Amino acid sequence: MTEAPTTDAIQDKLAAVRARIAEAAIAAGRSSHDVTLVAVTKTHGADTVRPALLAGQVVFGENRVQEAWDKWPALKAQWPEVRLHLIGPLQRNKARRAVALFDAIETVDRPSLARTLADVMEQEGRRPDLFIQVNTGAEPQKAGVVPQDADGFIRECCDRLSLPVVGLMCIPPVDEEPSGHFALLREIADRNGLPHSSMGMTADYHIAIGCGATFVRVGTAIFGDRPARET
Ligand SMILES: *Cc1c(COP(=O)(O)O)cnc(C)c1O
Repeated sequence: MTEAPTTDAIQDKLAAVRARIAEAAIAAGRSSHDVTLVAVTKTHGADTVRPALLAGQVVFGENRVQEAWDKWPALKAQWPEVRLHLIGPLQRNKARRAVALFDAIETVDRPSLARTLADVMEQEGRRPDLFIQVNTGAEPQKAGVVPQDADGFIRECCDRLSLPVVGLMCIPPVDEEPSGHFALLREIADRNGLPHSSMGMTADYHIAIGCGATFVRVGTAIFGDRPARET
């Protein structure tokens, strides 16, 4: 059992992460305003999320659609400025509920899902920002299009399906130096005219910022270790 962290502890850690983001941005000759912190609250309850909301954090990440639906509608009612990002894999049968709740979906990773999202967005009249997930390490167990298929998939999403794609997202292999993966993601985004790249987590967000990340997804550094999941 992990103890729920105190409000002060969360707010201190959040401030420290923000300071480190600013530092990394300045070191890279960028503005800290060009980097958005996505505070990852998966597995944490509303009591852990609230201190971050009170400290002015507005962008949050969740990796499961059902968990986000259980947690966020009440919080969004109180903090309507919240922007919620889906950062975990999306099954097509949950696409409608994802489009209805999330403000960004970072894990568009295959043509069948892209087509479903196009249909569902039209029906729901809601168009969350989309990121295409790229499997930069071409790992068999990991979601995302492999780098050599990325340009074609991006064109399909943007041109043929007219999806609101704003950028790319990646999760580098755990056992490799991440900067090559971050640089590759930024290069694919740049050559396709996409402004955003979501890359970097607790262990490496400072490195990702040096490689041009515009969104970093940080959980543990703010909220502490995650309680174990039942499933
Ligand atoms: C959980 C998760 C994060 C946050 O990871 P930390 O190491 O806790 O910062 C970021 N991105 C994705 C896709 C995640 O699933």
